[in-house]
Amino acid sequence: MNMTYRAAVCVKPVPDPNCYGKVGIDPVKKTITRAGIPNIFNPPDKNALEAALCLRTGAAYVAGAAYVAAISMSPPEGAEILREALAMGADEAYLLCDRAFAGADTLATSYSLYHGLRKIESEKGAPFDLIFCGAESADGATAQVSSQLGEWFGYPHLWNVFHLEESGGIFKLRTKLENGYMEWEAEPPMVLGVARELNKPRFISAMGVVKSRKKPLVTWGRTDLPGADDKYLGLAGSPTQAGDIFTPNIRREGRQISGSPDEITAGILSAIRASGAVAGM
Ligand SMILES: Cc1cc2nc3c(=O)[nH]c(=O)nc-3n(C[C@H](O)[C@H](O)[C@H](O)COP(=O)(O)OP(=O)(O)OC[C@H]3O[C@@H](n4cnc5c(N)ncnc54)[C@H](O)[C@@H]3O)c2cc1C
Repeated sequence: MNMTYRAAVCVKPVPDPNCYGKVGIDPVKKTITRAGIPNIFNPPDKNALEAALCLRTGAAYVAGAAYVAAISMSPPEGAEILREALAMGADEAYLLCDRAFAGADTLATSYSLYHGLRKIESEKGAPFDLIFCGAESADGATAQVSSQLGEWFGYPHLWNVFHLEESGGIFKLRTKLENGYMEWEAEPPMVLGVARELNKPRFISAMGVVKSRKKPLVTWGRTDLPGADDKYLGLAGSPTQAGDIFTPNIRREGRQISGSPDEITAGILSAIRASGAVAGM
């Protein structure tokens, strides 16, 4: 018998890759400037949301004892991504938005999300069974937040999950490795960093959009997270401070080798040898 779960999904707005050319760097704060650049839903976060929605079935859901809550720590325009999550099927959404959260590195981000999730739990009077994240974001791509969240909660956490089966409260999972995968068996509560191969996110239907308008989208600022400590929030609370961000000057060296085929071949081989690109040549 399939159980049903209270699930949270962390979703991040990321710059639309079609506009990467407009992404800039603040020369003073060394943070990314993305003013005027449209955001998209971080792709693996849709797989994370799909995974949570697939586990939300049955009577407990109808009775409201099981739900899927989407949460994002982002500037005000992050609300658009949360509306998309509601239209896709999330039951409620929470935006953590305050200048105090700005410029956060991964530790400060996961800390803020942790306090946002704990606040939802206290408001609902029940803990989350499952916390889903994407394996990595399309911009920072540090792939650190899901594991950090697991540490803040003190829960088991798995990263790069590409296979998930649930039965009777037991989860059988597989996580991607460079040359293979690992198999796991686990029980909630846990934090999962989801890979894009896990599933195919459902399309957002017109009915989904209509229904989403009646669903709660709550915005919380710094003062709504009284349990959080300023020394772990935002740029000031971020131990990782970008040293310098620059676009490396990658340039290729071209050289003409002429002569007979044998001479050209000999010239190419000696160039490869000289470069040391191939060991033992
Ligand atoms: C180019 C660049 C380089 C950076 N390098 C570093 C660095 O080396 N170290 C560092 O600490 N920070 C770094 N940052 C800052 C970092 O991107 C932010 O802290 C970010 O909020 C979290 O890191 P991430 O995007 O790498 O998350 P990841 O760990 O890659 O994201 C994994 C998942 O966590 C969830 N998640 C992440 N951010 C949020 C959010 N704001 N709201 C909701 N869910 C979220 C999503 O489900 C996401 O799929 C960098 C940012 C940029 C743009």
